Amino acid sequence: MAKQLAEYIWFNGKIVPWKEATVHVLTHAIHYGSSVFEGIRAYNTPDQGTCVFRLQEHNRRLFDSAKIYRMTIPYTLDQINEGTLDIIRKNNLKSAYIRPIAYYGDIGMGLQVPFGQETEVSIAAFEWGAYLGEEALKNGVDAGISSWNRLAANTMPTGAKAGGNYLSSQLISMEARRHGYGEGIALDRNGYISEGAGENIFVIRNGVVSTTPKTAAILPGITRDTVMTLLKEMGYEVREENIPREAMYLADEILMCGTAAEVTPVRSVDGINVGSGTRGPITKQVQDMFFGLFNGSTADKWGWLTPVYK
Ligand code: PMP
Repeated sequence: MAKQLAEYIWFNGKIVPWKEATVHVLTHAIHYGSSVFEGIRAYNTPDQGTCVFRLQEHNRRLFDSAKIYRMTIPYTLDQINEGTLDIIRKNNLKSAYIRPIAYYGDIGMGLQVPFGQETEVSIAAFEWGAYLGEEALKNGVDAGISSWNRLAANTMPTGAKAGGNYLSSQLISMEARRHGYGEGIALDRNGYISEGAGENIFVIRNGVVSTTPKTAAILPGITRDTVMTLLKEMGYEVREENIPREAMYLADEILMCGTAAEVTPVRSVDGINVGSGTRGPITKQVQDMFFGLFNGSTADKWGWLTPVYK
């Protein structure tokens, strides 16, 4: 039984007590990684109360991930959006990490999924603090380049947020932690920077901001898109381009971003200080604008916030 983090879970269209949201050991997804999922955050804002951040984009990506794997989610996008809001309300959460997942359940032991098979779907919501730690948000994380590469093009699609992909992320983060780093960064099969175990990466030098392109085996993050939008708003040009490993050693600033990690500075890579080895000024500005969306100091002119308790 997964540790209880909230009272209820949205489970195949119904809200059930946490303890009842269980699956069988022969669940297809456990054996074969056949799930697609999302990680979404909701923040308690001063003006609109609890708001989900980029709800539509996240759940749209859930359906996109399913489409890549020819999975049929037996709900509409609107129903999943509504379910996401419902489970936050039902658990009476002020802020939340939300985890929708669609997976093949008890459909037999064959690898092959029966044609037209529908997935099961659940949505959990619970409180969850800073993924890389509060300290890292302020002072930065020490990152190490992994000896594991990200998936090669045309092996498994990294643009799908699928359960099976996270074996790669686990190898990368386990190795990093074993070497004493806070997070691991992987190269792609061509040797260019790809992404962190669960975060996209921005590298800044001489005021020029680069991030790794969709062709570098990344999951194109919604936080990545947010950071790109905020940087443009701040007047910076953002280049999507291949980034060689040594650019990390020579960067003035590096930041990692993702729903769980939010916007976190990287203060060293492979033991080499990034710039002065502290959070850089552009990173700080991005953080202020990003967290400003939730503390009221950044106007949400993009319509990214969906109020939960209207
Ligand atoms: N890459 C990977 C491998 C991830 O797991 C995540 C987290 N979902 C990200 C990037 C960042 O994506 P997002 O900003 O949409 O959370």
